[in-house]
Amino acid sequence: MSNCVFCKIVNWETPSQQVYEDDQFIAFLDINPMNWGHTLVIPRGHYENVLDVPEDILAGMIKIAKKVAPAVVSAMKADGFNIEINNGRAAGQLVDHVHIHVIPRIQGDNLKSGPSRSRYAEGEMGATAKKIKDAIK
Ligand code: AMP
Ligand code: ZN
Repeated sequence: MSNCVFCKIVNWETPSQQVYEDDQFIAFLDINPMNWGHTLVIPRGHYENVLDVPEDILAGMIKIAKKVAPAVVSAMKADGFNIEINNGRAAGQLVDHVHIHVIPRIQGDNLKSGPSRSRYAEGEMGATAKKIKDAIK
């Protein structure tokens, strides 16, 4: 899909801070994170949502999320994490390329889903991605 931002990330037309890649999936930092280290897992192929993506690829996405999540937690010194998939505008889906959010949670962070987001300072995003990448087993 030529106008899909996540396809552009897959093709390196748009830069990203990747923490994991294999021949079918990539994981990279969310540019507008709910918490530092918020990571997205996507298939390289373009599928709009959970209903469009073949079951084996959906299962593969979950497998990668399970691999990445403990690395996000340990790198961010988090206490837990959320795994979320938004499907459709009403559910908050902004990018129509199916993705799993892995959101690190700190005890008492009172995070609510929705528009309150942060921005990384210069250089901080690369350093955060490296910490997570180094923690992946
Ligand atoms: P959703 O609202 O579930 O569709 O999530 C889309 C996510 O993609 C949002 O959390 C955005 O902050 C994130 N996002 C959009 N563009 C980029 C990008 N170029 N690099 C990294 N994350 C992005
Ligand atoms: Zn796409």
